[in-house]
Amino acid sequence: MRKASIVWLDTTVKTGTSIYAPTWTMVQQWKAKQITDREYTAQYIQRMQESFNQHPDQWLAELDTDRLILGCFCPPNTFCHRRLLAQMFVRVARAYTDMDTTYHGEYPLPPKA
Ligand SMILES: [Zn+2]
Repeated sequence: MRKASIVWLDTTVKTGTSIYAPTWTMVQQWKAKQITDREYTAQYIQRMQESFNQHPDQWLAELDTDRLILGCFCPPNTFCHRRLLAQMFVRVARAYTDMDTTYHGEYPLPPKA
């Protein structure tokens, strides 16, 4: 039996893979309260739909693991694009693969050393 694989994917605009990140404009407008959570969500979902259309093979390759962890700077259980992205990955997995894919929610932050 192979070892369980875990992949940690940086989804931030600052240091992450751009195809899963929001844009700087979106982040700055949201932080400045120039766009609402709802507007940010709509923009991000549209951006990710375009991303999937342009990079379907990369999206599917990310799913080739036992556990995919989506990383961002936002604390657990706050508004963050990573939960939108998680939902999209689950939908992509169900639509395009025969994997049994489940969203496991947020992990608590590790204790500070
Ligand atoms: Zn975030």
